[in-house]
Amino acid sequence: MKEDFDVVVVGGGMVGAAVACALGGSSLTVAVIESEPPQAFAENQPHDLRVSALSIASKNILETVGAWDGVAKRRLCPFRRMRVWETAGDTEFCSDDINYPELGYIVENRVTQLALLDRLRDFANVELICPAGINKINYSAGKATEVELDGGRVLSATVLVAADGGQSRVRQAVGLGVTSWDYKQHALVIYIETDYGQQDITWQRFVPSGPQAFLPLTGHYGSIVWYHSPDEVRRLKALPNEDLLRELTATFPDCLGKVNAVLGTASFPLKRQHAQNYVKPGVALVGDAAHMINPLAGQGVNIGLLDAAALAEVLLDARRQGLALGDPAVLRRYEKMRRNENLKMMTLMDAFYRVFSNQVLPVKFLRNLGLGLAERILPAKNKVMRSAMGLEGKLPKLARGETII
Ligand SMILES: Cc1cc2nc3c(=O)[nH]c(=O)nc-3n(C[C@H](O)[C@H](O)[C@H](O)COP(=O)(O)OP(=O)(O)OC[C@H]3O[C@@H](n4cnc5c(N)ncnc54)[C@H](O)[C@@H]3O)c2cc1C
Repeated sequence: MKEDFDVVVVGGGMVGAAVACALGGSSLTVAVIESEPPQAFAENQPHDLRVSALSIASKNILETVGAWDGVAKRRLCPFRRMRVWETAGDTEFCSDDINYPELGYIVENRVTQLALLDRLRDFANVELICPAGINKINYSAGKATEVELDGGRVLSATVLVAADGGQSRVRQAVGLGVTSWDYKQHALVIYIETDYGQQDITWQRFVPSGPQAFLPLTGHYGSIVWYHSPDEVRRLKALPNEDLLRELTATFPDCLGKVNAVLGTASFPLKRQHAQNYVKPGVALVGDAAHMINPLAGQGVNIGLLDAAALAEVLLDARRQGLALGDPAVLRRYEKMRRNENLKMMTLMDAFYRVFSNQVLPVKFLRNLGLGLAERILPAKNKVMRSAMGLEGKLPKLARGETII
């Protein structure tokens, strides 16, 4: 027996769950398939290693779909300041300069996901199927897509949304290609406890081996991201925590404060990947299934949530206008809203990464000059700050705090 849905979202991570929440309460029937239920949250749990800096635009989206309270009541760390420096140039951004209380929030990925999945349960038109694996996807352009779950349940989708991450099985099943390259660097994420109480600054220092970043967490805790060659990251990750603590203390700047303990590590290869097209008849890619971006400026999930907001807006507009949801013209509107914006962000991050990892003297001189200028030219500085907060460019309605239902 087939069950018909207007929209089937594969992947109930942060982005997939956001698509479904944004469609919650509408006339569309929605199913979300998630293979791994996230562990329940408890206040006394240590912080997760996977955390993200959420922009103000992301907060607006989560707030408008009714999930922000679920984030705030669990755990988040707001930050008001952001500092970027290398040997000579140094610039610091502060939310006061543009009259915002905060620049953003460091939130564990699982907290955002749990808040969204909780919110989904409020909507009669959304079914969360979790845990559930996919056995088969039968895609044929112009027809509803059949998704067969392990156990035999078959869902038929007018629109199939791939929100199943960078290795997206849906993207492969429907034959959407990607362009990708490897930065030949890995990011080592280290969960630490420091002498300092809760901090309101996130910082990033550039050294020849790669960036070194600090993200504040609640209490005395923080998350370090140490970019290095794959071999060096493997070596550091294999060290006992006490030895890693010694190397960290010797390498990281004094503003980190005294680090009392290394509590956990995880490493990630740095890869850039972009789908050549985000849509096909009856299919749309969102989040990491569509793009993987250098985590340097912490934008991956932020642009993914903008995809979620844009796709939901386009589908609801189509329903109001009586258009077929899977129509290529409808889905291309979503692609038009997002692909170029994401490409711009990826290109900017790449340029930033390449300029800051280059040791050629004229380039070093120019980037120090750039940081110096950024510090002195207030309108330029404010524009950079507003971009990092997700407040620049063409924004979908939810990101501006406007409802779409
Ligand atoms: C070191 C590091 C630091 C980062 N820092 C930031 C940051 O500060 N800010 C930021 O914005 N971004 C950051 N990112 C990027 C961010 O983590 C990703 O962009 C984000 O997790 C993508 O979310 P997603 O929901 O698209 O995909 P995912 O998080 O990969 O979620 C995919 C979901 O789909 C499910 N799934 C997969 N396959 C199936 C299947 N076949 N059936 C059912 N379910 C399936 C998975 O279980 C998962 O829940 C960082 C990334 C890294 C590596």
